[in-house]
Amino acid sequence: MAEGDKHRAASRQSPAVDLLVIGGGVMGLWAAHHAVRAGLSVHLVDAGRIGSGASGGLLGALMPHMPDRWNGKKQFQFEALVSLEEEINALEAATGLSTGYRRSGRLIPLPKPHLSEIALGHREDARANWTAGERQFHWNVHGAGFAAGLLAEDVAPFGLVEDTLAARVSPRGLTAVLKAALAASPCVKLSEGVSVLRLDHGQAILQDGAGIAFGNAVIANGHRSRDLIEAIAGPLGKPVVVPVKGQAALLAADLDPATPVVYLDGLYIVPHEGGRVAIGSTSENRFDEPCTTDGQLEDLIAKARAVMPALREAEVVERWAGLRPKAIGRDPMVGHLPGQAAVSVLTGGFKVSFGIAHRLSAALVEAIAADLDVTGLPESFSPLSHLKEAGFTAR
Ligand SMILES: Cc1cc2nc3c(=O)[nH]c(=O)nc-3n(C[C@H](O)[C@H](O)[C@H](O)COP(=O)(O)OP(=O)(O)OC[C@H]3O[C@@H](n4cnc5c(N)ncnc54)[C@H](O)[C@@H]3O)c2cc1C
Repeated sequence: MAEGDKHRAASRQSPAVDLLVIGGGVMGLWAAHHAVRAGLSVHLVDAGRIGSGASGGLLGALMPHMPDRWNGKKQFQFEALVSLEEEINALEAATGLSTGYRRSGRLIPLPKPHLSEIALGHREDARANWTAGERQFHWNVHGAGFAAGLLAEDVAPFGLVEDTLAARVSPRGLTAVLKAALAASPCVKLSEGVSVLRLDHGQAILQDGAGIAFGNAVIANGHRSRDLIEAIAGPLGKPVVVPVKGQAALLAADLDPATPVVYLDGLYIVPHEGGRVAIGSTSENRFDEPCTTDGQLEDLIAKARAVMPALREAEVVERWAGLRPKAIGRDPMVGHLPGQAAVSVLTGGFKVSFGIAHRLSAALVEAIAADLDVTGLPESFSPLSHLKEAGFTAR
């Protein structure tokens, strides 16, 4: 059968699904979840295994922006971090599975004296901006002794910040729970090992030449979303989404799972449940091998051991690398593609996807279900704003 005939035959055989989600990372999974809630039929396809892209990592830090110089973007992320807890409670109750979520807070050592003055200013900013109804989150400033026993003596000579908003989740735990919740729904079809090559007039054309007819499609395939977006938007001056490699490690250590995340000068130490501590991560714009780890990760592990004595002898149980999707405007890219009422994009979460994917997806699905444009997200998240930066001009 000729390729065109094959596509026509496919669309005749299967009625269009309300929402085709391309990519089963944290973004696509949340989009599918909200679509089911909105009463849509969903087909989620992943070229590999669901949750095996950037979302299959180890770290799972859920970090707020600084509480100063408040703006719409910070407010959005703040509300997302607060609301994630409730979403996760509902998911865990529905599936009986754990995501490894805990609002364990974060410690930020202050290595220079002037930083404690700045931190005290931020404490007031947090009082003003980190409030949600009855809930108040804090940017507490403590003396050097506050984390004695947890951090090495020379790590926080001028004290440290304790932020009570930050949290952590197991990336693999969350994607597995989302997948399980979707698998239990009669309105959802999940397909693994199915790669979308392009979108063509209400049809997704797959690698094997078959087609999936859709009412709406969401491009959520991580750093590979660039290909599908640019196939629709046309050639651009610069890539609209790029991969940024990250490396991380998982150590076995007998730490209290309530121990806060520690952030110091690009290093994250993220204590998880079950005696596991994640260390990360590198941020590499240039790389030869996307999935291998190297000396840059060993340096991070050595730094973590120096910061936290409990990790000095801890066994490394896994080393991992993945490619984060970074949109050209640095912010996430969410909404309809210009001139495409039925095709949307949900990508570019870069380093913070796990804290905001549920809210981005909720806004997108609400718009899709109502056949309207996305509202309630910062303008800098819109596909048009990213595409313009990449050199797009509307035809
Ligand atoms: C080392 C490291 C540490 C990180 N730490 C954190 C952190 O602490 N906190 C945080 O919030 N974020 C963190 N991130 C970032 C976060 O992991 C990513 O932003 C997020 O996972 C991206 O999710 P996604 O759904 O957009 O993409 P992905 O998870 O990559 O999912 C995309 C999916 O699409 C599939 N796919 C690709 N092409 C196709 C196609 N043509 N057709 C169908 N399917 C396709 C892939 O198989 C994949 O499963 C980290 C990332 C790395 C690498």
